[in-house]
Amino acid sequence: MQNFQYYNPVNLVFGKGQTEKLATLIPQNAKVLMVYGGGSIFKNGVHQQVADALKDHNVTEFGGVEPNPRFETLMKAVQVVKDNNIDFVLAVGGGSVIDGVKFISAAANYEGDAAEILRKRIRIEENALPFGTVLTLPATGSEMNSGSVVTIEATHEKLPFGGPALFPQFSICDPSVVASLPTRQVQNGVIDAYTHVLEQYLTYPHDALLQDRIAEGILQTLIEIGPSVAENPADYKLAANFMWSCTMALNGLIQQGVPSDWATHMIGHELTALYEIDHARTLAIIAPNLYRVMFETKKEKLAQYGQRVWGITANTVEEAATLAIEKTVQFFHTMGMDTKLSNYTEEYQKTADFIVNRFQERGWEALGERQNITPEKVRAIVELSY
Ligand code: NAP
Ligand code: FE
Repeated sequence: MQNFQYYNPVNLVFGKGQTEKLATLIPQNAKVLMVYGGGSIFKNGVHQQVADALKDHNVTEFGGVEPNPRFETLMKAVQVVKDNNIDFVLAVGGGSVIDGVKFISAAANYEGDAAEILRKRIRIEENALPFGTVLTLPATGSEMNSGSVVTIEATHEKLPFGGPALFPQFSICDPSVVASLPTRQVQNGVIDAYTHVLEQYLTYPHDALLQDRIAEGILQTLIEIGPSVAENPADYKLAANFMWSCTMALNGLIQQGVPSDWATHMIGHELTALYEIDHARTLAIIAPNLYRVMFETKKEKLAQYGQRVWGITANTVEEAATLAIEKTVQFFHTMGMDTKLSNYTEEYQKTADFIVNRFQERGWEALGERQNITPEKVRAIVELSY
């Protein structure tokens, strides 16, 4: 196991009716900016719950954060922060709103052009505004991690950043919010979380035995509940297990002491930036093809995954690994994912060139846990996804 230092200061408040705790979680004298998305919180009652809890607080609202939050929109919120001397930000929404609030929080005190945070991937170590979250969509784990992804609309760039100052102070996770989610978003949530685990698990066999078992447990839980929570999001038991699995998939726990890949996410972000494909769906397009192209170096871990998670029995490592990829694709299909890029866009033939050029411009010549996903491999992965 590699050395590690595990720091996660998020106060996670989980369960039915917990939104009322906002009243005490946010300091009484804070000037709060409540940030939300396109308005789902007005339809499902979450806005009312938050307003009730904060009736004695000084609250300004900022709505309209898009899915795949836009730098341009978030900079308007930064202006509101400055104009109103806001000292606490509250995200009420899914990963996009939470990621957006992480950017607002970092940019509010950033000296210089805030686009640098994205373009130069500035690590935010200090000086961010404190913020909390009320999660409405289990998927990203953003409620319990310090990462974020923001899109610059002008240049169609979707860029990750983060840092230890960007952990939420608290996150309220009430699984009741799952009831109002459209099927497509539940499907996305299951597959985003599933792929987060695969990014941290499907690397190479190592000696971090507990991390593997926890990762496999999250995968098995998502397989067990995924199809039924998509069909019946109002079932509290399913919703609660779905929500907790998504948080556990990306709160740092399974990443300690092990290498991780993340190339599926990096390539997937480009597909969203280019074609507005939902984040999880880009992962379902790319992940299986990444495993096919990187088969030689990933096959042993793929075989372990196949045996332990899918119960595959096979005579050789290669056979088990191949079947594991097939099982994964089948699961993606069961969860409503279309895994072919050409079914999302007619422009698909330009995609590999575009992504390879972009990665080279950014100096991303060696991705993955072994740094062996070169521009040539990226090209092969994207072309196999057409
Ligand atoms: P999202 O983009 O936050 O939300 C998707 C849609 O779901 C929105 O239209 C939203 O509507 C709606 N919605 C949210 N909660 C709802 C509810 N309870 N009922 C009905 N509709 C609801 O989706 P997401 O998958 O959570 O976030 C995706 C973003 O997170 C991507 O940009 C992705 O790259 C990023 N991401 C971040 C991390 C990380 O660690 N930080 C990891 C993976 C992905 P409204 O806008 O109207 O609310
Ligand atoms: Fe993701």
